[in-house]
Amino acid sequence: MKPMKAIVFNGPGRIAVEERPKPVARAGEAIVRITTTTICGTDVHIIKGEYKVKPGLILGHEPVGVIDELGEGLDEYSVGQRVIVGAITPCGQCFYCLNAAHSQCGGPAGGWRFGNTIDGAWAEYLRVPDARANLAVIPDELTDEQVVLVPDIFSTGLSGAESGNVRVGDSVAVFAQGPIGLCATAGAKLRGAALIIAVDAVPARLDMARRFGANIVVDYREEDPIAVIKAMTHGRGVDVAIEALGRQATFESALRSIRPGGTLSSLGVYSGKLVAPYEAIYAGLGDQKIVTTLCPGGKERMRRLMAMVAARRVDLSPLVTHRFGFDDIQEAYELFASQRDGVMKVALHPAISDTSRQLATASVDEEC
Ligand SMILES: [Zn+2]
Ligand SMILES: [Zn+2]
Repeated sequence: MKPMKAIVFNGPGRIAVEERPKPVARAGEAIVRITTTTICGTDVHIIKGEYKVKPGLILGHEPVGVIDELGEGLDEYSVGQRVIVGAITPCGQCFYCLNAAHSQCGGPAGGWRFGNTIDGAWAEYLRVPDARANLAVIPDELTDEQVVLVPDIFSTGLSGAESGNVRVGDSVAVFAQGPIGLCATAGAKLRGAALIIAVDAVPARLDMARRFGANIVVDYREEDPIAVIKAMTHGRGVDVAIEALGRQATFESALRSIRPGGTLSSLGVYSGKLVAPYEAIYAGLGDQKIVTTLCPGGKERMRRLMAMVAARRVDLSPLVTHRFGFDDIQEAYELFASQRDGVMKVALHPAISDTSRQLATASVDEEC
């Protein structure tokens, strides 16, 4: 069997570039030759040992590539087509999928397979399960880096606004402006919110929040976000708050920032106990809704999101700030995990020369 290069999780704190056999497509599966992928905050949790996956697994859940091989039953696709695959790969046929809970395919959070329960996208080749439900062809005019954030970051961020049922004219507060929070801000704008208040403490992220649709930005180290939100909403609170970090403090602030009858739409991944103070839920009489969402996947979701990028309704490219080859994964991971050098997201390519990386970084710096 032909070997391929892959980035493997070897236990907490240990990732390495290794040779693995190239996967083979069985019936209903496809092999995608990866051309671009990225590192997610969730990968950092895995590598730190905070979210458990089995050692030996190839990580990564944000694939962009080219169809290399098709198993039986995939006649509508052809080898050589450029595709993305959602971070979540629903089967489309199980109890959860047929109850429209696609991300819960097969069980709790079960739709998340790549780099979690099966080998992921940080490899030269990726085996895609249930390919007919999950291969989404990239429109010709879009580059890899224009769509690399679609499989997870844009889908997840936007879902915060969708699950919160943001309506035209709504007021929305978004807590945390990392890549997902920024896409939630963009999502609130796309859904027609009139007032969008973005909360963070990193000036560059607050600047980016304005670019992504926030009217008001709040640095929580300088101002109390709840006081600002109340002042902007006749003392009532926002219609929808989106939590995009996964901490007790942001969850609680989001809860305190919504009006009676409002919605807290939670995207964060939490650990330990999550507490709702009784006064923030009006002793249980506040008619508020708390909804949680795992990234929606599937090819139709991916098609719709890429259509938004192609129509220039949203531009995700300012979020890709750095580029690395697989061989430089340690450096890429260290940069991303420590949030140095204004990094938002890194593009990972199987092979990349030092020169092109330098140029890529320089041009991004100039633009910002
Ligand atoms: Zn992710
Ligand atoms: Zn399913």
